[in-house]
Amino acid sequence: MLDAVVVGSGPNGLAAAITLAEAGRSVRVLEARSEPGGGARSAELTLPGFVHDMCSTVHPLGRASPFFRRLGLEAGGLSWCESEAPLAHVLDLDAVVLLERSVVETARQFGTDAARYEDLMSPLVERFDDVVDLFLGPLRLPKHPGLFAQFGRSALRSMNGLARPFADPAVRALLGGMAAHAMLPLSALGTASFALVLGMSGHKVGWPVACGGTAALTRALVRTLEALGGEVTLGHEVRKVADLPPARVVLFDVTPQQLLRIAPDWLSRSYRSRLGRYRYGPGVFKIDWALSAPVPWRDPRCLRATTVHLAGTLEGMDAAEESVHRGRVSPEPFILFTQPTLADPSRAPAGQHVGWAYTHVPPGSDEDFTTVIERRIEHFAPGFRDVILARHVRSARQMEAYNANYVGGDINGGSAELGQLLFRPLLRLDPYRTSHRRVFLCSSSTPPGGGVHGLCGHFAARSALAELER
Ligand SMILES: Cc1cc2nc3c(=O)[nH]c(=O)nc-3n(C[C@H](O)[C@H](O)[C@H](O)COP(=O)(O)OP(=O)(O)OC[C@H]3O[C@@H](n4cnc5c(N)ncnc54)[C@H](O)[C@@H]3O)c2cc1C
Repeated sequence: MLDAVVVGSGPNGLAAAITLAEAGRSVRVLEARSEPGGGARSAELTLPGFVHDMCSTVHPLGRASPFFRRLGLEAGGLSWCESEAPLAHVLDLDAVVLLERSVVETARQFGTDAARYEDLMSPLVERFDDVVDLFLGPLRLPKHPGLFAQFGRSALRSMNGLARPFADPAVRALLGGMAAHAMLPLSALGTASFALVLGMSGHKVGWPVACGGTAALTRALVRTLEALGGEVTLGHEVRKVADLPPARVVLFDVTPQQLLRIAPDWLSRSYRSRLGRYRYGPGVFKIDWALSAPVPWRDPRCLRATTVHLAGTLEGMDAAEESVHRGRVSPEPFILFTQPTLADPSRAPAGQHVGWAYTHVPPGSDEDFTTVIERRIEHFAPGFRDVILARHVRSARQMEAYNANYVGGDINGGSAELGQLLFRPLLRLDPYRTSHRRVFLCSSSTPPGGGVHGLCGHFAARSALAELER
């Protein structure tokens, strides 16, 4: 009898397993696919020698994660590669704004709003570790009530509300583009928290990529787990509880919908009914490209950043996200573009590049948005189509086929609307526990939510350890 089984080897599944193994518990991870890593895998998707990240690439949360930092994943082969600036945001043909590592350098672009931007970001950057400790995890009694109140007041607002005192369209757009990672209209409460967390992380730890591809992070996690005596079994999909080996606790790195399918009889009727009301967000349509040269941006400053938001003004992004929520992709959608070879040339043959972009689409969409996305990039980078050597596309529905956790193509494990941002998957003293004493959820459908940081898994494993120690 194992102490623990973890279903799913995403960053949260592996983090959960490591936390259990660190406590001396026997643990096995069961992964449906032939490779570990969930949203943290890389592969030669297009041409030989071009390493593409299947999902995540940019890791401000991975670098900021207190759990990953404590593990010292560098010993497992992880190193971070970084571009000069974390982010470029394209507002228009002649308007690009950059998130620089320095708050002051960033603020310098905002004229009369410079001081206001500094006032917003500097306190967060100065108290970065405390803010991360407070907000990247389950809601707890705050160790720093003043900071909690100060940050909480801003974070719970909508992005539109946070932007109200700013007059400069550039700062409004820069913040709005980060808030759009919530995949919600920017009028939604809580969207400001995405701008604040991603912005302060950009200033404090950058938006790095894992050198060699995101799979390097997964390899480091697997090595750490194995060194502690844990094991990963690949190609083992858990469809029903009979597919699980005997274990004292089971942690599911899956979303509520899957848990309800796999283990309905283990859960109480009322828990099942509440979990069944869990809501998912929009999907993504993603294109990966092999490129013969760097992207020929009209504004060469876009080559200073690994991530480029092709997204226009705050008002434009709000309208685009609103449109997705009404079931339609705007002709000028929010496009997130990454060009990781600028920071990490090892991912492509010399002088050549990889890039990817996604746009938010209605849940379960099977539509092909290649033309919309490529036309938009060409607009801001004339000649882009000429440097494309090969492409690989995935619709929202194909995203789900690739990873069952991306329900309808939702990459965040569930909608980040305020209720679910604070209380995932539902309001409960210990959100990782289910109605079954031995069964836990540890995926991004639990706090603190989406992203590669391992913290959902780590905190879920702490709950499971408390159960094992009873
Ligand atoms: C296109 C895209 C881009 C992204 N970009 C970023 C980014 O740049 N930075 C960032 O921080 N985050 C990014 N993310 C989000 C990030 O990848 C996820 O939030 C993160 O991977 C969630 O981790 P997880 O462990 O909860 O789940 P996952 O990583 O989804 O892992 C779940 C694992 O469980 C397995 N599984 C599911 N069901 C079963 C079953 N029944 N039996 C066995 N195994 C099962 C799956 O195969 C998968 O391996 C991106 C995601 C996508 C899709």
